[in-house]
Amino acid sequence: MAFDIEMIKAVYEKYPSRIAAARKAVGRPLTLTEKILYAHLTEGDAAAAYERGVSYVDFNPDRVAMQDATAQMALLQFMQAGRDKVAVPSTVHCDHLIQAEVGATADLNKAKDKNREVYDFLASVSNKYGIGFWKPGAGIIHQVVLENYAFPGGMMIGTDSHTPNAGGLGMIAIGVGGADACDVMAGLPWELKFPKLIGVKLTGKLSGWTAAKDVILKVAGILTVKGGTGSVVEYFGEGATSLSATGKGTICNMGAEIGATTSIFGYDEKSEAYLRGTERGDIADMANAIKEHLTGDPEVYEQPEKYFDQVIEINLSELEPHINGPFTPDLAWPLSKFAAAVKENGWPAKLEVGLIGSCTNSSYEDISRAASLAQQAVDKKLLAKSEYTITPGSEQVRFTVDRDGFLDIFGKMGGVVLANACGPCIGQWARHGADKQEKNSIITSFNRNFAKRADGNPNTHAFVASPEIVTALAIAGDLTFNPVTDTLTNEEGQQVKLDEPRGLELPTKGFAVEDAGYLAPAEDGSQVEVLVDSKSERLQLLEPFQAWEGTDLHGLKLLIKAKGKCTTDHISMAGPWLRFRGHLDNISNNMLIGAVNAYNGETNKVKNQLTGEYGEVPAVQRQYKLQGIGSIVVGDENYGEGSSREHAAMEPRFLGVRAILVKSFARIHETNLKKQGMLALTFDNPADYDLIQEDDAIDILGLTSFAPGKPLTVVLNHADGSKDEIKVNHTYNQGQIAWFKAGSALNLIKAGV
Ligand code: SF4
Repeated sequence: MAFDIEMIKAVYEKYPSRIAAARKAVGRPLTLTEKILYAHLTEGDAAAAYERGVSYVDFNPDRVAMQDATAQMALLQFMQAGRDKVAVPSTVHCDHLIQAEVGATADLNKAKDKNREVYDFLASVSNKYGIGFWKPGAGIIHQVVLENYAFPGGMMIGTDSHTPNAGGLGMIAIGVGGADACDVMAGLPWELKFPKLIGVKLTGKLSGWTAAKDVILKVAGILTVKGGTGSVVEYFGEGATSLSATGKGTICNMGAEIGATTSIFGYDEKSEAYLRGTERGDIADMANAIKEHLTGDPEVYEQPEKYFDQVIEINLSELEPHINGPFTPDLAWPLSKFAAAVKENGWPAKLEVGLIGSCTNSSYEDISRAASLAQQAVDKKLLAKSEYTITPGSEQVRFTVDRDGFLDIFGKMGGVVLANACGPCIGQWARHGADKQEKNSIITSFNRNFAKRADGNPNTHAFVASPEIVTALAIAGDLTFNPVTDTLTNEEGQQVKLDEPRGLELPTKGFAVEDAGYLAPAEDGSQVEVLVDSKSERLQLLEPFQAWEGTDLHGLKLLIKAKGKCTTDHISMAGPWLRFRGHLDNISNNMLIGAVNAYNGETNKVKNQLTGEYGEVPAVQRQYKLQGIGSIVVGDENYGEGSSREHAAMEPRFLGVRAILVKSFARIHETNLKKQGMLALTFDNPADYDLIQEDDAIDILGLTSFAPGKPLTVVLNHADGSKDEIKVNHTYNQGQIAWFKAGSALNLIKAGV
């Protein structure tokens, strides 16, 4: 990974001067988050006193990571950018497409077979463009990143919402959509609204049954699923420095559950130990040399109320283990209150399955502590009452915990080791009997527990806890069991108690692995052929979108006037459509099928203006496309909220929609539309939404003098011959207008502009 060392050296060299410039610009001490952000301002941009939650700022991230579901479209787009190689170190991780059914080996082999064309495509495109490729079975993106790529003071983006996991090693790591990843890989700056800052002061020290997971379970209870939106959560204090680096990773990982942009811990002795433990002593040496820049300034932590927008304090010595759920990760129950909650709410007390591991909780520390309980179950003659699965986060962790005997112990307790992959955490779980939709309870050490997420059964009550608590409850087979106070009856009828879990932060014999599952890319990829079968259902090479024709747009058909919430899920549904993420034509058959038609209150039923009949949205739009007729989509407030999924912008563009006109946009979706060369417009007067009629033919005027800040005119030609002329606004800057004119941002990148 010599490339990395040079890259990290270059990042660290900039730190002293950039931090000095930032301090001067803001005129006060800096938090760690601010230091890292200012150190990554786009080359040539002078530091300024950015307004948190308001200013949009360009950054140069150091690295990009992609998982296999989202990498497909990100890389298909990158192939359009006309670059020979990625501009920053980038990796692809094959983790999301492996279904858990019987156990690691069989499940992995089955997935390799089923997803062969996707894996072959990702491997070949990675090889060609200088991207590191982690094969199926190598591990879960965030664990592999933490073990190999995360570094203190770095900045990365990843096409997955739990990318913030790398904050455990002091990196600003943010989840994004594929279009953003494509830009950064092409060497363009990446824009982010300067975040607000939430400080979490940790005092005291964890002990007994409490684990790092309980910190974030508690924080989720305080802040709720929306409380972190637009903010970076920065942890500090003596409690923070007492946590292992992987424990910090768990906390940062699950910051996604409170909507945080990302979460972060400062560099400390635990970070150093983890870097050395994962054979990155050279990075630790470099980090030590600029240590003062890799945490917040001392004044900031002495008076946090003065420097953070919100401050929370948690005393780890008093923190109880927590269990959160069901159906939402912010319903936080201290262990001592959980049994009563189960009874009062009528949740099924019988625990069917306990699942440990995943990207969130499969460190050596997690596994060794859980194994100490499994060993007790064996020693104390307790038969585990629930099913129990273990999902290692990486082959390195799996190999090491196997070598150290832990997997064997789990086996004796009746546990099943699953592949090093997402599996049940993302619904890739062929759970026996789930289709009967029976009410039941499971508990996991994962991060999300929304209805249907794990097994597709809306009646599965999923709870989230530390691996230790999951293991104890799986042994008891009972959600109301409290291992701190309660006893269990063993095979010999004796009452036995589980002792507190014990484990090691790092393996005493070091980590080991035979084949980590990494494929380095070719030095010169120019001769590498990218493998896409033209008959494939799942993959399709992209064609560039057509450039603007240079005139105003006349006679656009109204495709749909969407009423109420229209999120990216309404525009481009997930679920079974996931398999078409790499095939724009096929996935476009889900375009807007979840949006509610304002004229009939129904979904996926709109009037075809060519025939007067009602049809499905994608089918009607395909008919317009066939006739070469453009169309327009009208929407309500906050159109496109939800994920940064670029498919929601690409599908309408691909099918020939020319403009999206709404009361207001969710900003990321608005940017995605602009990137794809679409017109993203807002009503100057939101009440004009009511003027739009089902049979309207619509003109958009003013495009020949399209300029920043200058409104456009929309003419609504009603079927009865009357007209309405309305003013519409846009937020295009000069560069974005150039995207529109070129047909897409990618077309411009390719042209080298
Ligand atoms: Fe996402 Fe779960 Fe996979 Fe982690 S294990 S990357 S949370 S799906």
